[in-house]
Amino acid sequence: MSNDAPQYDVIIIGAGPAGSMAASLLTQQQLKVLVVEKQQFPRFSIGESLLPQSMTYLQEAKLLSAVENAADKLGFQYKNGAAFYAKGHYSDFDFSQKFSAGPSHTYQVKRADFDQLLANEAEKQGAEFKFGYQLTDIQLEPQPSLTLEDEQGDITQVEARFVLDASGFARVLPRLLNLDQPSDFPVRSSVFCHIEDKITDSGYDRNKILIETHPQLKDVWYWLIPFADGTASLGCVAKPEYFERLSPTAVPESMLEQAVAQTQRCKKLLASSRNISPVQHITGYSSNVKQLYGTNYALLGNAGEFLDPIFSSGVTIAFKSAKLASEVLTRQFSGEQYCWQSQFAQPLQQGVDTFKAFVCSWYQGQLQDIIHFEQAPANIREMVCSVLAGYAWDHDNSFVQQPERRLRVLGELCAS
Ligand SMILES: Cc1cc2nc3c(=O)[nH]c(=O)nc-3n(C[C@H](O)[C@H](O)[C@H](O)COP(=O)(O)OP(=O)(O)OC[C@H]3O[C@@H](n4cnc5c(N)ncnc54)[C@H](O)[C@@H]3O)c2cc1C
Repeated sequence: MSNDAPQYDVIIIGAGPAGSMAASLLTQQQLKVLVVEKQQFPRFSIGESLLPQSMTYLQEAKLLSAVENAADKLGFQYKNGAAFYAKGHYSDFDFSQKFSAGPSHTYQVKRADFDQLLANEAEKQGAEFKFGYQLTDIQLEPQPSLTLEDEQGDITQVEARFVLDASGFARVLPRLLNLDQPSDFPVRSSVFCHIEDKITDSGYDRNKILIETHPQLKDVWYWLIPFADGTASLGCVAKPEYFERLSPTAVPESMLEQAVAQTQRCKKLLASSRNISPVQHITGYSSNVKQLYGTNYALLGNAGEFLDPIFSSGVTIAFKSAKLASEVLTRQFSGEQYCWQSQFAQPLQQGVDTFKAFVCSWYQGQLQDIIHFEQAPANIREMVCSVLAGYAWDHDNSFVQQPERRLRVLGELCAS
């Protein structure tokens, strides 16, 4: 190590949910933590519907009370379930009727405000944040040395004992270390924006995310995520060809407008709505890596694997990865026995695999049949409800123990 570069125990790349959660947990273990964030906050991010499981991680990091206290001021929408609509049929899951123990509510949040709140709280707890600095180069051995560039193009060197990559879709370390691996999912696209929703329908439940399936195309779906201030996030997910057909000139506004025009429920609910942000169009966000950790580094949140937005699992997985990594690092730095494979990668992957089975089953159509089959025994719906609420690591749930098999068998039953 050079003598003059600032030294930290842990440097975290990125101040999204994974980065701030890890910063908070590690700082509370009296470790010296630096978070390097490329952008200035607040900044827009997609990923606005949280899952109740994420509340337990916020609580453990002593961040929950800040979220709850700020909820009214920042327009966080109370969320207690998920509602699904397909071909005239509405089915909802109330998270209070889930199998697993734990919180049964959460929030839908504008991520610009939510991410800034978490970063501010982690900073108050003692973590150092550098906004407007991006990691441009790294040397990991013998000990990590990072090259940072600020917005003026000035270069700084910083050093640490360990690096956590929480850089999200930028996937900084996977790219620099050649860790990228193709996702198990086909390329899908998404178009989305924020709207003033002007919903007057008294039957509309603002406490739930609404997922609507296209009336003819089962692999095309829409989200409507209301916030508490009369605005909402609206988006559509489909294979790129679907959007190309809708708008050959690839104008995102036209793609979203025409996609929503093909819905039944969203179209009616949003008849008076207006866009309040530009429509964004993103493609090919599902990703995977060859390994989640290596000498002196680990990958958190989206910098590891990203599945699909359908079950709003991204932030919950980001928090879980930060929690597991922080626990292993605490053991490592205090001289206790630790193992990145059995205490980080494996337990993280187990829940990711549960979500993965649910995502596969959704696109195959089986999970859509299950969701709309309300005659299913109550205990079965409770177990499915648990995973929809983010409890994908609860081994007592047979849909966590054997998600593929249970979904296949139940799907066949519901379809017959
Ligand atoms: C269409 C779509 C809809 C989604 N909907 C949901 C949802 O409803 N609910 C949900 O939970 N998840 C959702 N997700 C997933 C969610 O967006 C992510 O899983 C979540 O934001 C991951 O958090 P993170 O902390 O890993 O990364 P991020 O939140 O992406 O944060 C990464 C940070 O790293 C910074 N950074 C990048 N490069 C550098 C660099 N070189 N140096 C320094 N900093 C850097 C970035 O500026 C950014 O602030 C959705 C995803 C998509 C694509």
